[in-house]
Amino acid sequence: MSGVWIISENRRQSLELLNIGRQLADKMGTHAAALLYQDREHAGDCVSHGADEVMLLPPLSSEQPAESCIPVILEEAKKGDPELILLSATPRGKNMAALLAARLNAGLVSSCTQIDYDEGSKTLVMERLAYGGAAVQKAVCSARPAMATIPPRTYETAMPKTGRQGNIRELPSPPPSAIKVIERKVKAKEAKDISEARVVVCVGRGIEKAEDLTIARQLAEAVSGSIGCTRPIAEELHWLPEELCIGLSGIQVKPDLYLGIGVSGQVQHVTGIRNAKVIAVVNKDENAPIFKAADFGIVGDLYDVVPKLISELKK
Ligand SMILES: Cc1cc2nc3c(=O)[nH]c(=O)nc-3n(C[C@H](O)[C@H](O)[C@H](O)COP(=O)(O)OP(=O)(O)OC[C@H]3O[C@@H](n4cnc5c(N)ncnc54)[C@H](O)[C@@H]3O)c2cc1C
Repeated sequence: MSGVWIISENRRQSLELLNIGRQLADKMGTHAAALLYQDREHAGDCVSHGADEVMLLPPLSSEQPAESCIPVILEEAKKGDPELILLSATPRGKNMAALLAARLNAGLVSSCTQIDYDEGSKTLVMERLAYGGAAVQKAVCSARPAMATIPPRTYETAMPKTGRQGNIRELPSPPPSAIKVIERKVKAKEAKDISEARVVVCVGRGIEKAEDLTIARQLAEAVSGSIGCTRPIAEELHWLPEELCIGLSGIQVKPDLYLGIGVSGQVQHVTGIRNAKVIAVVNKDENAPIFKAADFGIVGDLYDVVPKLISELKK
């Protein structure tokens, strides 16, 4: 059967993976298949968004962990012999990818920022960030299957096409698992998700004390934006929740406008704002690295500059 397979537990992410999966399948002259957790309604969507085949994983009881499906996926992969398997680089996606790759003896490249098929050499070329985001590593994966995890929102969702036909089938139930889920606790979120925000005001260590966050909040209000922060603000000072930390160990944002105030622009932070359309910053140190990443910059004390910006924006 071969093909490019995507495995996803999430509707949006499955359509993102299908976007790149379909493009690669076309280049490779093969078909695209989607393996989904029980979501029959979404299976049809996957077909219209590029899947030639959708395999529905069996429903699991509340005591069965998602990993119970591994033997079922392995069985299909052994029969189907895919060239490439893509998963989202979410905590569960990464876990599943590692478990599958070990059992399939696959070549797995994690957190790919780009993946392409070189039609000349007939190889898959993947890119990922290395050395804390300071370098881009290029990996040529010659193993079969090749596998990759891709961070959510790396690709846009696939565009639907009317009239696409595809086969939808149910996969068999998994054998009993040695692992039983005793309790599930949802991690309480302290802040709203800013990964899709159109305007982000990011607070860095240039803010001297927690009370001064008011300045950033007023600026965010003036530009109808959401507040984000650097790691020290969230993890060392605990002035803002960890969910708002932007960068390598936090979240990636891709706003139309990123406004950084008192942010030095270390590579681990800049990694998280690479996809911002416009980057504007205020920093009192003209040599701060953030100016290299910025489209617009003001060298000045944020305590002088930001109130003036707010009053101009309010006019
Ligand atoms: C493995 C690893 C992962 C990491 N992951 C992340 C991550 O995901 N996200 C992240 O942000 N960091 C991350 N870091 C930390 C990162 O290296 C930096 O230390 C951090 O981003 C610096 O935060 P900052 O810019 O707020 O602080 P600082 O580097 O201290 O910079 C403060 C800036 O404010 C300016 N400033 C000071 N006062 C004023 C003022 N009054 N007006 C205007 N400007 C002023 C200063 O000139 C300075 O440039 C990571 C580090 C490691 C090692």
